[in-house]
Amino acid sequence: MTHYKGSCHCGAVAFEIDGDIENVIECNCSICIRRGHKLWFVNKADMKFSTDEEALQGYQFGKKHITHRFCKTCGTPMFSDGAFEDYIKAGINLRCIEDLDLEALTCIQYDGASK
Ligand SMILES: [Zn+2]
Repeated sequence: MTHYKGSCHCGAVAFEIDGDIENVIECNCSICIRRGHKLWFVNKADMKFSTDEEALQGYQFGKKHITHRFCKTCGTPMFSDGAFEDYIKAGINLRCIEDLDLEALTCIQYDGASK
């Protein structure tokens, strides 16, 4: 288990999480492909925010099952979570994690564009 710190560009959103980064998803859906996401799915309750969650803005499209959250100030996409309360997972944008070797990650290609 490793301790990770995530933050947006301006610092208005910061969180910490303990875990093992695995099953990293690269998705080709219309939003992931534009954002260049490498996603790590965690239980959202495990994300410990050291900043005000009000600093986040949500964006939904299509079936509106997922809320894509980004910093209101600098626009950095941080994570996406389910619009339903019983959906406990969040997909963290690993590009927000500090000091992470993104090139070393093995990624699973997910065909979100066809879903
Ligand atoms: Zn920011």
